Amino acid sequence: MATFDDRLAEALAAVRSRGRWRELKPAALAPGGRIVRDGRALVDFSSNDYLGLASHPLLAERAGEWAQRLGAGAGASRLVTGTGDAHLAVEARIAAFKGTEAALLFASGWQANAAVLPALLAALPGAAVFTDRLVHASMHAGLAGVRQHRFRHNDLTHLAELLERHGQATPARLIVVESVYSMDGDRADVAALAQLARQHDAMLMVDEAHATGVLGDRGAGLCAGVAGVDVVMGTFSKAFGGFGAYIAGSAALRDWLVNAASGFIFSTAPPPAVLGAIDAALDLVPAMDAERAHLAALGDRLRAGLAAQGFACAGSSTQIVPALVGGEADALALAERLAAHGMLAAAIRPPTVPAGTSRLRLALRATHSAADIDALLAALPAASAAGRAP
Ligand code: PMP
Repeated sequence: MATFDDRLAEALAAVRSRGRWRELKPAALAPGGRIVRDGRALVDFSSNDYLGLASHPLLAERAGEWAQRLGAGAGASRLVTGTGDAHLAVEARIAAFKGTEAALLFASGWQANAAVLPALLAALPGAAVFTDRLVHASMHAGLAGVRQHRFRHNDLTHLAELLERHGQATPARLIVVESVYSMDGDRADVAALAQLARQHDAMLMVDEAHATGVLGDRGAGLCAGVAGVDVVMGTFSKAFGGFGAYIAGSAALRDWLVNAASGFIFSTAPPPAVLGAIDAALDLVPAMDAERAHLAALGDRLRAGLAAQGFACAGSSTQIVPALVGGEADALALAERLAAHGMLAAAIRPPTVPAGTSRLRLALRATHSAADIDALLAALPAASAAGRAP
């Protein structure tokens, strides 16, 4: 009789034969936008530590200090005994940063999206759900089993059509988008989305995972100052350099999630060290305009250089710059050859991105220099000489 492991081996063989095998490789962030892998320091274009805060001493110091003072764990879920003064204080600071009435912490961005969407739908029985075709996997986890009307990426005319066609007869409507798309690095027009949502009496949820800390006034994201965004989600795992996530919105939204979001109610509260790092990042991020301007300039420099080499960048206008390659094997081979030149660039392939759009996803960090971008651009032609798709 086949054991469970035999069955897994069979399933894994199928993954391998589809060319989709993935494995974990240890790496460690290093100063100056570098990463150490296999004992080698590479220029890191793969991680999401956009402002370089993951290794900022203030974050590590406060994480340690809060752990020393309050303990390593929160001890219970929020509704039992897991809500400390620190949770409430950090949530009040997040709401002030985002300009919303209230905010609520979640363990991670993935968990926030997976937990919040079912709770929103529980408040909107029979709602029609409209999602951008490129929303993150965590949104799909939250919408598992829910019929989605998926509109063409960032195409608000298509969204309006779908709202007309499928939204009329339904008791409620929910639109789900990101403000910066994780694999294309392009932005949504949040103000236009909010207007469309209002016209169709739809609720709007925006994932600001990649905008938080990087874009908008004081780095507060692209929803800050825009009226009509009902649910704003963001994570502390990217530009904030730490871990954890938030939902920002009205006090009623917060109350509803506390009462209805299973993934919030039945999960242990974030520990003090995580909160300390978030608190320290909240001290630093609003004042990091120089880093944000530097990141924007690096993005422009990289896009101009890629365009000159014939790479399409999928509408990127942020610190995430894809270089489209096309085939999966070509993207993997290009990433490998860049690694040989001392550059770590992630090859992103299906199912993370649509078939035929495999790419290098180049994530910029404020700790990169213009010379790092130039070195990447100089390495690309050599790295891609042995068979480039674009
Ligand atoms: N939303 C988007 C758009 C993301 O890119 C990610 C991270 N890959 C998440 C949510 C999940 O956030 P976290 O890493 O904090 O779980």
